[in-house]
Amino acid sequence: MEFAKPLPSYLVQRYQGWKATSYKENQTWYRRLATEGQRPRAMVISCCDSRVHVTSIFGADQGEFFIHRNIANLVPPYQPDGDHHGTSATVEYAVTVLKVAHLIVLGHSQCGGVQGCIDMCKGHAPQLEAKDSFVGRWMDILRPRFENVSDIAGDDDQARAFEKQAVIASLENLMTFPFVESSVNDGSLSLHGLWTDIGEGGLEFFEAESQKFLPV
Ligand SMILES: [Zn+2]
Repeated sequence: MEFAKPLPSYLVQRYQGWKATSYKENQTWYRRLATEGQRPRAMVISCCDSRVHVTSIFGADQGEFFIHRNIANLVPPYQPDGDHHGTSATVEYAVTVLKVAHLIVLGHSQCGGVQGCIDMCKGHAPQLEAKDSFVGRWMDILRPRFENVSDIAGDDDQARAFEKQAVIASLENLMTFPFVESSVNDGSLSLHGLWTDIGEGGLEFFEAESQKFLPV
């Protein structure tokens, strides 16, 4: 295990700063969370992108959100085949154990994962086509929806539209999980699709009626 090294000093310093300030000011709350356990009201599925700051956008404190992040905020379809399904495991835990009331899929602008999928669909990314490309095979979840945006002129407009397709794909795939479907149907769980504009700080929500993303 010689490959595991101590933290770089800049992170040690930041940690010590947090412990002396933010933690110290909220110590009672942290201790309560530790003894009483978590009771988050919402789960958020967002992209891993470092620019998507889920807790900042909603001013959320520790204990409020159960968060799962993956490439392009995708949820795969329900596939109980005995393999390792990280995203599906988080959804199962949030819905059946934590019983969150809201499940939010948060997409974002300038998503590198979605752009990679566009590149694949246009034949510009042979490296992502390889069987051993985890990113490529993950983005296959979104791939069939490229036909919904293939007519859009302008690379930026097409990318923004495909990012929103990733949110819709995840919402639809969530409903293939029996425990999600039954919780939605009995009213104990609601699903929400969001998309945030990194540069402008904008937030749009998916309105099922119009099938459009509208400003929050
Ligand atoms: Zn992304």
